[in-house]
Amino acid sequence: MSVANIAEAVLVLNSGSSSLKTALFVNREDQPIATCLAERLGTAEAVLHWSNEAGKTTYELTDGSMAEALAKVVELVEAALGSLAPLVAVGHRVVHGGESFGKATLVDEEVAAEIARLSALAPLHNPANLAGIHAMRDRCPAVPQIAVFDTAFHQTLPEHAYLYPVPKTLYQAHKVRRYGFHGTSHQFVSREAVKVASLPADDHGLIVAHLGNGCSATAVVNGESRDTTMGLTPLEGLMMGTRSGDVDPGLLSFLADQTGKTLDEITSMLNKESGLLGLSGLSNDMRTVSEAAEQGNQNAQIALDVFCYRLARQIMALTAALPKLDALVFTGGIGENSRLVRKRVTEHLRVLKIEIADERNADNGKSSNHVISPEDAAVKVMVVNTNEEWEIANQSLALLEK
Ligand code: ADP
Repeated sequence: MSVANIAEAVLVLNSGSSSLKTALFVNREDQPIATCLAERLGTAEAVLHWSNEAGKTTYELTDGSMAEALAKVVELVEAALGSLAPLVAVGHRVVHGGESFGKATLVDEEVAAEIARLSALAPLHNPANLAGIHAMRDRCPAVPQIAVFDTAFHQTLPEHAYLYPVPKTLYQAHKVRRYGFHGTSHQFVSREAVKVASLPADDHGLIVAHLGNGCSATAVVNGESRDTTMGLTPLEGLMMGTRSGDVDPGLLSFLADQTGKTLDEITSMLNKESGLLGLSGLSNDMRTVSEAAEQGNQNAQIALDVFCYRLARQIMALTAALPKLDALVFTGGIGENSRLVRKRVTEHLRVLKIEIADERNADNGKSSNHVISPEDAAVKVMVVNTNEEWEIANQSLALLEK
């Protein structure tokens, strides 16, 4: 696109502890004109990859800091737009908004302080997200910085869904409750699904299964999240690439006794060495596990069986939050691409009158949103491509318009 045609741009930023991802959107189009991935920040090998229609260019960073990476991003954004004048907002993905943020929020000193305070709930993520906000504000002080929270969409959970049955004082003193994550994706995908299935905006019940490296499913009623599988942390709920999802809480002390491992070591094992990786002993990647299963690898077959069964069981549990079930929606790298997972999961869901048409499910590659249940099915089953970056850009623009 020629710079002369760019009227308005939004930069979306996802800053982690050692990586930075950005996407540059212009003129309210839902696909970015450029994306960037900076990796291994904080090390001597830090690099930044910038991709646009001309291809991918890799830059080596000298000190490898987040500030240096952001300075380079701003330089590249300026070149892509002709100047920084069209840049109306920077939308930041922030992992934890606790109970303080139920929607996208313009970042001022008070909001930044609250994001920092919420770091107790997301010690790996919120400080990195905040570092990105500060570095960007230093670079572009005139551009509004907007925080879009992974937890915000789930702030509509009723008390009976968000409270754990533990002493109430833990909620009062430490805000121990279920928060849920992947909210930006669940919000975007549920809205798209309502359009694809032509459902009324004020009369629908959906379950959205976001299946990527992290996996979660959400019950959505009339555009609101009513329950979700992740909880206080993203470890709760579904089996994932490296996370176990739900296990008996008694497992922690049992393992500590049996193995002498510390609580931190066991928690790390449940987060990083479990899930598909732990059961298959091969990989956290569904493609690799599925291929090995098809070739007869028994550990891979079991990993796939447990993944699909547990997902089906959680989908059934989530129907308790719905007045009716209009549609089951698959999204995320696995949900969008794995016909095998979609087939195996729905085979466990016949009691909910969920079925899929094999010829509609056959499309295994990235393609447009589509319905994979038979024409007259009681419950629509759909594949919807998520676009979290665009949702962040869109929410940022909507906030500016207010
Ligand atoms: P992230 O959560 O990091 O955004 P993605 O949404 O990209 O991750 O999902 C990554 C997962 O999607 C991986 O497990 C990958 O193997 C899986 N995936 C991608 N393409 C396919 C495919 N064709 N078949 C099965 N799994 C796939």
